[in-house]
Amino acid sequence: MAGRNGKKSFYDEAMETFDRAAELIQLNPRVRMELEEPDFEHIFYVTTELRDRLVPLAPEESQKFKDLQPSDMKAADALEPLANGNFILHRRALLRSDINLRQGVINIPKMGLFRIEKGGPRKFKAYRIQHNQVRGPYKGGMRYHKDVSLDLFKTLAADMTWKTAIAEVPFGGAKGGIKIDPFNYSREEIEHITLRYVYKFKNFMGPFLDIPAPDVGTNGEIMAYMMRQFTDGEREHHKLRGVVTGKDTRIGGSEGRIRATGQGVVYCIEEWARDRGFDLKGARVIVQGFGNVGSSAAEILAAAGAKIVAVNDVNGTIHSDGGIDVMALVKHVHGNKENLRRTVAGFPGAKAISKDDFWAVDADICIPAALGEEITGDVAERLKVKLVAEGANGPTTRDGDRVMMARKIDIIPDIICNAGGVTVSYYEWLQNQRLEHWTEGDVNRRLEQAIKKNYAIIRDIARNRPQRTPHYDSRPYAVGQECDVRTAAMVLALKRIEAHYLLEGFSQ
Ligand code: NAD
Repeated sequence: MAGRNGKKSFYDEAMETFDRAAELIQLNPRVRMELEEPDFEHIFYVTTELRDRLVPLAPEESQKFKDLQPSDMKAADALEPLANGNFILHRRALLRSDINLRQGVINIPKMGLFRIEKGGPRKFKAYRIQHNQVRGPYKGGMRYHKDVSLDLFKTLAADMTWKTAIAEVPFGGAKGGIKIDPFNYSREEIEHITLRYVYKFKNFMGPFLDIPAPDVGTNGEIMAYMMRQFTDGEREHHKLRGVVTGKDTRIGGSEGRIRATGQGVVYCIEEWARDRGFDLKGARVIVQGFGNVGSSAAEILAAAGAKIVAVNDVNGTIHSDGGIDVMALVKHVHGNKENLRRTVAGFPGAKAISKDDFWAVDADICIPAALGEEITGDVAERLKVKLVAEGANGPTTRDGDRVMMARKIDIIPDIICNAGGVTVSYYEWLQNQRLEHWTEGDVNRRLEQAIKKNYAIIRDIARNRPQRTPHYDSRPYAVGQECDVRTAAMVLALKRIEAHYLLEGFSQ
């Protein structure tokens, strides 16, 4: 279908699979129209007060200050390091200290010369796109990243509508976040920005309205800030814990939620391997992104006997033909306070390679678990794997898809592959409603069943093999012809969503 506004946008391109599946099942035209654009596009601004910073002096400027007396700071923890080399200057740095300043420059022993940059108010662009709620409250992640846009959030919000339908959880789709590089702000500043976001958006969220969760650049800590800001001072505020998911288990989070997306990726890979008669023991795996999703998937696969042979992230790439020690890598990335960008770069147990070489590493499985549009046509030409399991949202471009299809590389599409996160988010929400706490065993048993069942239905749709088994029934979804697996996943989503509109009808 041609672009909706004449010119093709990123969103329009992403909707090509939707268009294909809609044609294939002859989706009701009014339902199609309802789903083509989001219900609501919220764009707003949040302001906050930034702290003063120490900014390293450029080498040419340093000459002028090389005779500056050093300052003796007693409270060493009063300087908070940021990933861009700056430091937050907390006021307690001045207590009991001997400070020498010249033209706003300070000389700190063993650290160097810095200019003190004044903090002050700062404005950030914020988004929340609520795509569809016919199946339940809006649900989707919060992304804090410097490269976000309306188009991106529209695409990711629509993806959530498809994903919640595929995972069979009673939610709709949403996505949002803030245009910010969180690594360049202090924890306190991130907390304040988050509180302000909720302060402004409060009327549009709630356990039965819109339920955020962690995504790129956010985590359980940020979910806790959101929950506090939303529930504080409310009557019966304990009933409102389900306003966000992905919380710490000690404050209403679910066991297994942190690893759920990676765990879901692995359940999909297990089901693919079972179907293919492929042994995952000794399988060679390359992983892009070593954040929440990539590191969990790598840990679980390594524990099952697979070898993680290469990992790429935004700051570096590492390779070890004999397999990387994943536990040690997790410690290097997530357990090391000095690793401010939480990167795999500098890991001593593997050698550094280029990102270009990463894609061509000889392996069986590739797990993209970073950002979108990484597997382009060129990258797909170079891949030496049998399977791409999409941990990330939208990691493959249309060209990438075409090349992989021609090269017979299997794909597990994102909307089923990374649906483990939202599935366990639903379990978390349910536990919050019932004031219950389930074991990790309970959570994973349910998750495994849900993911493997829905993945099997998608495979049946793709192969046009409708059947009823003791675990599932794919007969209502098959379309009478074979199709690619990405379209098949969308068929499953659209048929489940369409049923709501057709059975409930439209309010006027
Ligand atoms: P995260 O912030 O924890 O980690 C992101 C990782 O990607 C980091 O290792 C980062 O270095 C890497 N990265 C960023 N830009 C990159 C680039 N240009 N090249 C290579 N690596 C790059 O994020 P996350 O929560 O693990 O999410 C990763 C992906 O999974 C995203 O696409 C997200 O939408 C998707 N996802 C996450 C969840 C969840 O529960 N967290 C659920 C479903 C889907």
